[in-house]
Amino acid sequence: MTEENEGYGVVTYNAPPPGQMVAVAEVRDALDAMHNLVNTVLEEGIHYGTIPGVKDKVLLKPGAEEIFKAFLCRPEFVRLPESFVGWAECSASYAYKCRAIHVVSEIVLAEGEGMCTTRETKYALRSSAPACPECGHELRKSKKAAEWYCWTKEGGCGATFALDSIDGSYGKRPATSEEWADTLNTVMKMAQKRAMVACALTLGAVSSIFTQDMDDGVIEAEPVTRRAAPTPAPTGRPPTHPPAARSPLVSALQREQMLAAMKAAELSIADVALILGCEQTRVPEAIATWIFAEKGRTVAACLGYVTTRLQAATATPEGQEPLPLEEE
Ligand SMILES: [Zn+2]
Repeated sequence: MTEENEGYGVVTYNAPPPGQMVAVAEVRDALDAMHNLVNTVLEEGIHYGTIPGVKDKVLLKPGAEEIFKAFLCRPEFVRLPESFVGWAECSASYAYKCRAIHVVSEIVLAEGEGMCTTRETKYALRSSAPACPECGHELRKSKKAAEWYCWTKEGGCGATFALDSIDGSYGKRPATSEEWADTLNTVMKMAQKRAMVACALTLGAVSSIFTQDMDDGVIEAEPVTRRAAPTPAPTGRPPTHPPAARSPLVSALQREQMLAAMKAAELSIADVALILGCEQTRVPEAIATWIFAEKGRTVAACLGYVTTRLQAATATPEGQEPLPLEEE
């Protein structure tokens, strides 16, 4: 028997006797209800994200919370013994179990585990740039001219230097003990989030709809885009992808702000469409999708990503033969 809960489509079963299958119709109803929840309640960009070039949907924490609500569950977190904070060696790991507890019966309906450690690349390494000889501030590399500049917006002195006059380049350095301490709370919350998303995927049996273990997307997403076929020349037709079933809603104001930011970054709509792999008419949605794929992303970060990819795509070393279309 199926009971629809307004807005969510919660399904409750009359359990069959042990050893007997659940009626196929009930399985189908449950699946339909889940798809219904995904299609009508969960919104792309808020509850789940997609990563350009990757077909799968990534369940985000707000989406996990909706699945918990749909099943009338509250999450309960238990810290697992693998967790440790090593103040001496500046290394910490958090491991949590998340339980979905039915609020009426207090029965545990699902469990999921998640872990996060400060040794992960994004917490362990920081990007570094050479210091300004005038004021010691970190320099930035200009996109418009062959020079470094000391950005006044970030508290620099505004000086510019020819590229070859400065010794050093962009790189990665280990986080300092202070920076490590700053990440502790984030890493703990991330472990809880991963546990909760894993639990929600089990609770809703939605692994077939969502991808697991990609809650913080980019790390996995970048190699995928790098593995893609050689980027076509910018003059070529942008690659077309079937439009996603649902896109994040982009307001007229956001659209305008995005276009202004693109203009300021000297990027054309065609450029952004090419790199994000979308139709030119869907550039604002593609930017929104990119941003929502990970917490803390901004329009500026997206355009920075596009610029970098564009430069990599257009910089063809001299004397290099164009890649053959077919391998022999
Ligand atoms: Zn300076």
